[in-house]
Amino acid sequence: MTMPDTSGIRIGVSACLLGHRTRYDGEHARDVVVADILAERYELVPVCPEDELGMGTPRETVDLWGGTTAPRMLGTHTRTDWTDRMNTWAAGCCDELEAAGLSGYVFKSRSPSCGVVDVKLHQEDGTVRREGRGLFAMEIARRFPDLPVAEETDLQDPESREAFLARVETYHRTRA
Ligand code: SF4
Repeated sequence: MTMPDTSGIRIGVSACLLGHRTRYDGEHARDVVVADILAERYELVPVCPEDELGMGTPRETVDLWGGTTAPRMLGTHTRTDWTDRMNTWAAGCCDELEAAGLSGYVFKSRSPSCGVVDVKLHQEDGTVRREGRGLFAMEIARRFPDLPVAEETDLQDPESREAFLARVETYHRTRA
């Protein structure tokens, strides 16, 4: 079998999926598909918004509060408001990623920073809506609306994975 020429294709990834110990508890969320299969075929660009923003690792967990378009990011216990700092950092990071020329992005699911779908949105009445998107993932979508994105959970099935990677390679060729 001839492997496709994927040299020069860059994919952004949530750093914890590559095995970086950047999670709130100092642990990683290494994903075999990302860290082994994708890393072998592409150049992966790891980013951890919460760590790189300076929230510290380990750190207090954060939650999203409010509606889908502009939720607030608050510390779970202290209610420290990280929203503006995260949004400002995300905008600057997107400038750097634009220069890096990404052709796709794989995000950690369910994260208030990185999750793409079904992230918890807490409501003041005590209810939780699973309709949110992480603040960093939201900025990526705003800045690069056509960029192929997936969560690691989308890539476990080989067919879905290859379909996503085909979109990444098409995006790369189109940009070139
Ligand atoms: S999910 Fe995102 S913010 Fe959380 S540890 Fe992984 S890369 Fe960092």
